[in-house]
Amino acid sequence: MKLDGIHHITAITGDAAANVDFYTRVLGLRLAKKTVNQDDPSVYHLFYADEDAQPGADLTFFEYPGAAEGQAGIGMVHRIAYRVGSEEALDFWRARLADEGVASERDGGRLRFADPEGLGFELLAVDVPDAPLVADHPEVPAELALQGFHGVRAYSTSPQRSQELLEQALAFEPSDDDWTGESGWEARGTSRGGLYSLDPAPHDRPIPGAGTVHHVAWNSAAADHEGWRERVIAAGGRPTPVIDRFWFRSIYFREPSGVLFELATPDPGFTVDESLETLGEKLVLPPAFESRREEIEAVLKPLPYHRSAAPRS
Ligand code: ZN
Repeated sequence: MKLDGIHHITAITGDAAANVDFYTRVLGLRLAKKTVNQDDPSVYHLFYADEDAQPGADLTFFEYPGAAEGQAGIGMVHRIAYRVGSEEALDFWRARLADEGVASERDGGRLRFADPEGLGFELLAVDVPDAPLVADHPEVPAELALQGFHGVRAYSTSPQRSQELLEQALAFEPSDDDWTGESGWEARGTSRGGLYSLDPAPHDRPIPGAGTVHHVAWNSAAADHEGWRERVIAAGGRPTPVIDRFWFRSIYFREPSGVLFELATPDPGFTVDESLETLGEKLVLPPAFESRREEIEAVLKPLPYHRSAAPRS
């Protein structure tokens, strides 16, 4: 039983309109689902993904309008790494980000930058067997596009505290990948792999807010989902019951360094209620919320989004 890398990563934004602009127009991702936070339907939950909206490339944001910027500290993810196909892609992104006024730092086969609210990113030119998960965008050639997640880095005061749960319960393997550093693991299943790295924590206290990661979800086959939950409990974790998120099913728990983990299933996926062609174009509510649509729409600011993708050749 193995987890198939990262399913999705969820962060916080204070400005949904600016967030859509940066992730779709600038980074070239596809808005794959425009919905609301199921735990607080007065705010948006936006999902950016590859063209087919698959687990592994799915970055999501809760909007808290006007939220102050936070700062990653102990127990928080501080950087998200995306794969790209080549060093040429890093040159392309460095120039494209500079055109948007976004500073970046090149370090060999890596390019680091932050989104407009300070969320840390790294693009890595890596050679992995996993299929590239790419979205279509008229200004981003497919061979230079983001290819899905490589891993996340979080801050921990004591990575050893996480080791048992990660290795014994979640079957993460210690990683000797250049990127992971001293305390790094890989969750690699039959379809994909994803890395998890724990860095020494800064003195700064954690401040959740705009530009910080809320949780990271790992991809669990539906048949294994309850089994993972039992293993987490056996390792001393305290997972939630299985929660039906309509597009996937989830359990949540904190790993011992404090990072909120989710285990999410790939099924049924984002096309269960919209066609692949029109994903993201209108506000979609899970059936349990549909009766409250009028009330929900009255509170949300309209969020214009026009797909600018080139037709697939
Ligand atoms: Zn999630």
